[in-house]
Amino acid sequence: MSYNDASYLLLGSPVEQSLSPLIHNTAFRCLGLPSRYAAQEIAKSQVATSIKHIDGEHIFGANVTIPYKQAVLPYLDGISPVAKRVGAVNTIYFANGRKMGHNTDVEGFLKPLSALGLQPKHVVILGSGGAARAVMVAAEEGLKASRISVVSRNLLSARAACHDLQIGEAWDFSSLDQLIPDASLIVNATPVGMWPKIDTSPIPDSITFLPSQTIYDLVYNPEETRLLQAARVQGARTLGGLSMLIAQAAASFKIWTGLEMPVDAVEMALKTHLDLT
Ligand code: NAP
Repeated sequence: MSYNDASYLLLGSPVEQSLSPLIHNTAFRCLGLPSRYAAQEIAKSQVATSIKHIDGEHIFGANVTIPYKQAVLPYLDGISPVAKRVGAVNTIYFANGRKMGHNTDVEGFLKPLSALGLQPKHVVILGSGGAARAVMVAAEEGLKASRISVVSRNLLSARAACHDLQIGEAWDFSSLDQLIPDASLIVNATPVGMWPKIDTSPIPDSITFLPSQTIYDLVYNPEETRLLQAARVQGARTLGGLSMLIAQAAASFKIWTGLEMPVDAVEMALKTHLDLT
């Protein structure tokens, strides 16, 4: 579908592999809504104009993806406390005529965990990019973790994330064998293990997991990554990224429409599309 006919947009680059159009258009169709969602590839120089086009009359809202989650901030009338805390916007919507920015990754990350009733003391986060920053805020504010360790292949980037958010301690991957045994929740917020490189894991096989630990991989394709498979075999609790993908989209959908996303239909559509059934 052309983005000229859409009422909601995804702005980013690249966007052609995004699952957001499938998710939102499935939801609109299931609920009999006339709205349509389209991905629009934009260059950095088009950010200001693209945000201006979200006018509340033809285009009612948007998602923002890499690399513009921070670049959109100056063009909005306001941002939610969560988006401010993370320093990134992934959802644009209107409230009382004002164009607002929010970040649904924090809520999307927490939703699948809330069903498990976890109260992790030490959260180890692998990666220090956009998703990791949302997880850091979720770990501190949502999970009230007393210790948060941010592990990156680039120590400087982990330090920058901890410094920017004033959350956690920075480590590099050589510290994993000390950190993992003490962790209650381990989150993979790197793309390692993602299709097509499915035979890779961010945690070496020499490090084992405990049944008391939960391993949460934000990668959603494959549904069970090599990391999750190893954790499951060793008796740890596992969570894949598909539930977060749906939960963060459902939070945007609720903000835009006031309606609950039909998550079962969306999950079925995603699994069929990704060949996960
Ligand atoms: P990002 O901003 O590009 O950050 C990626 C992070 O992973 C960076 O810290 C990067 O380190 C690190 N990394 C990349 N390749 C690595 C490797 N081979 N070994 C070790 N570390 C590596 O990406 P993002 O938006 O945070 O997304 C990260 C992952 O989460 C992606 O797989 C994405 O699909 C997934 N995700 C899932 C959901 C969901 O709803 N399930 C939501 C958001 C993201 P450097 O800084 O050194 O490059």
